[in-house]
Amino acid sequence: MTTSKSDLLSVPLPWILIPEFDVNWRRALCAADGENPEDWFPFPTEDFVHAAAVCALCPIRVDCERWGRAHRMSGVWGGVRLVDGRAK
Ligand code: SF4
Repeated sequence: MTTSKSDLLSVPLPWILIPEFDVNWRRALCAADGENPEDWFPFPTEDFVHAAAVCALCPIRVDCERWGRAHRMSGVWGGVRLVDGRAK
């Protein structure tokens, strides 16, 4: 996949300069037993209230959102709904 100029302009500069960084996923609250992974991948018409509430308390939420954006992920990352790495 290539990156277009318009894609780069939508990403904060530090995230471009440091696209790879370590995230301590072992601290992820969504990995706790009892969480439903589907809550983090809602359909466009679904809300993500539960996922956002868990993310709000997660100690790695900032890094999680950065990682999701840098890797063009879709779903709820750091409490933000991303589609191909962009907030929707
Ligand atoms: S911020 Fe949310 S999606 Fe990211 S690791 Fe934490 S609980 Fe999971």
